[in-house]
Amino acid sequence: MEINLLVILDSSDKENYRIAKGTVSLFLKHFGIPYQELDLVKEESINFNASGILIAQEGLGKRMDQRTKKSLYRAVKQGTGLINLDYHLDSYKELHQPLKIERIEKEDKTSLIKIGEKHYINELHPHLLPPPLRGRIEERGMEKQLLQPLKFLKVKTKNKPLLLAEDNSPLLLCSSPKLIQFLISPRLWLPEYFGHCAGLDDILFRAIIWAVKKPFVTKTIPPFVTSRIDDANGSANIFGKRKDSANKNFAYLDMLNKFGLIPNIGLFIDDITEEDSKIIKEKYDKKLADFSPHAFSDPKNINEFPVYMHHNGKEFSKEELKENFARVDKKFQDWGIKPSKTVNAHFDEIGLNSLPFLKERGQIYTMNPIRFGKTWIDEKARDWKPKPYGDTGFNFDYMLDDPDFFNVCTGTKSGPKDYLTPSFDFLYGCTSFWKENSKNDVQKAALRGAEQIKLGLDSGFFGCLMAHEQRIAILSIKEFEEILERIDDSLSDYEKIFASYDEIAEYLYHHQQTKLKEIKIEGNKISCQLAGKSTIPLKLSIFREMRGKIKKELCNLPPFSVEVEVVL
Ligand SMILES: [Zn+2]
Repeated sequence: MEINLLVILDSSDKENYRIAKGTVSLFLKHFGIPYQELDLVKEESINFNASGILIAQEGLGKRMDQRTKKSLYRAVKQGTGLINLDYHLDSYKELHQPLKIERIEKEDKTSLIKIGEKHYINELHPHLLPPPLRGRIEERGMEKQLLQPLKFLKVKTKNKPLLLAEDNSPLLLCSSPKLIQFLISPRLWLPEYFGHCAGLDDILFRAIIWAVKKPFVTKTIPPFVTSRIDDANGSANIFGKRKDSANKNFAYLDMLNKFGLIPNIGLFIDDITEEDSKIIKEKYDKKLADFSPHAFSDPKNINEFPVYMHHNGKEFSKEELKENFARVDKKFQDWGIKPSKTVNAHFDEIGLNSLPFLKERGQIYTMNPIRFGKTWIDEKARDWKPKPYGDTGFNFDYMLDDPDFFNVCTGTKSGPKDYLTPSFDFLYGCTSFWKENSKNDVQKAALRGAEQIKLGLDSGFFGCLMAHEQRIAILSIKEFEEILERIDDSLSDYEKIFASYDEIAEYLYHHQQTKLKEIKIEGNKISCQLAGKSTIPLKLSIFREMRGKIKKELCNLPPFSVEVEVVL
């Protein structure tokens, strides 16, 4: 039998078809779910023999003929999982009884989505605490704010909902046989309502995994976790005025390492003291940190002494760049290390003229939410639709202005004008730096840090804890340690693979060059065919179900070129 999710669409309903293709189809591809799209208009009769069925489009229930519906219900009764995104439940009468629907009321709108009854599907989200503890900070994140009110169908049910509207009406129900029913419009996945990479993708992914027949295989990005620290000059940081400031002797690197993180550090290279350069070398040799030339220096935070491009967008000449890169090369040689392959540039400003110099040095990965040759505040800097969703905050794709570079970016959803405040820095608003807060708030910082990593992981990307060293320097080493300890605690339910930014960039580069072609189960044997090319071992996720519990296992693939068949 083939492992496959059947995705039902209808291209004759142009508007809803466009929504499904622009949201759910991209999501399935991004999460590496093996699927096959079927267009109701083109199919004479549908064979529903599959691991699961996803009704991906609003209004399909009305368009499906009786014969098709009958064979759909038969497949569901026989154990094929059904995930129904068509919230017009009135056109699926046979689903009412298994979903314990007592009455269908009217359509309404909600501006909020709340997390409901704890279940495999929503278990990574905070849940309502028992009454004596209710209202505590752990409950933050239980409510997801929509950007504008969205339609849902009000129903009365005896079922315990996994998601709720602001008036506590159910928005997501599940039942056996394996049946998932969304009661909110699939416009939810459009960026103008809520979108992907905004905090609900894990629920859609887990709903699919829960419903489909097991074993099931996906080519999902493994749960890598890393860190990015910008504006680093260690002991020379002018904001570290306390005896025990966390920047002194790069003490914060030890703390990041203590909790497994291997950070990429963007250095102000001319500020580094002789003593600190020894620490850099030691961390580099032990593979506990990567270092990249961020800028020469910048005490005024105006990108006054950049390496790659002027802060006003003016390109350096070839001669100037020769000199800049010679200065950078000399520093790194003196320290006895090589810059990371992933460029960590101040304000992410990288001029077009600097690209040949970076290529020559093998620095071919970037971590940019902005384009080459543009300044941070340039209106055209984010005029770019990188894969998978066209979101400049969450993407991995070739750079638009030079596809010899591969960009890997995670962690912060980008809204219009979001770049005007450094909200992508998890410590932003949590320390007394630039009076962003009246005091250093360890609890708030830990919450923001954990949310940043979780959003990356929940969105099928990777987790990245991002901060600027000046905010770390305001903290004592004890405060920074406590923040990381709390973050670590709140990620205890998460599967994590700690890796450097370079390792993750290289993994994603190969990941996106490969495709799951066919997966078959014969007895206990799962055989997978992949196409594409990878010179590094990639991983597949296998989901199995034992006595109602879903278990995930990561399996290594051998490097391959063109095609490979593996037995798992
Ligand atoms: Zn910077």
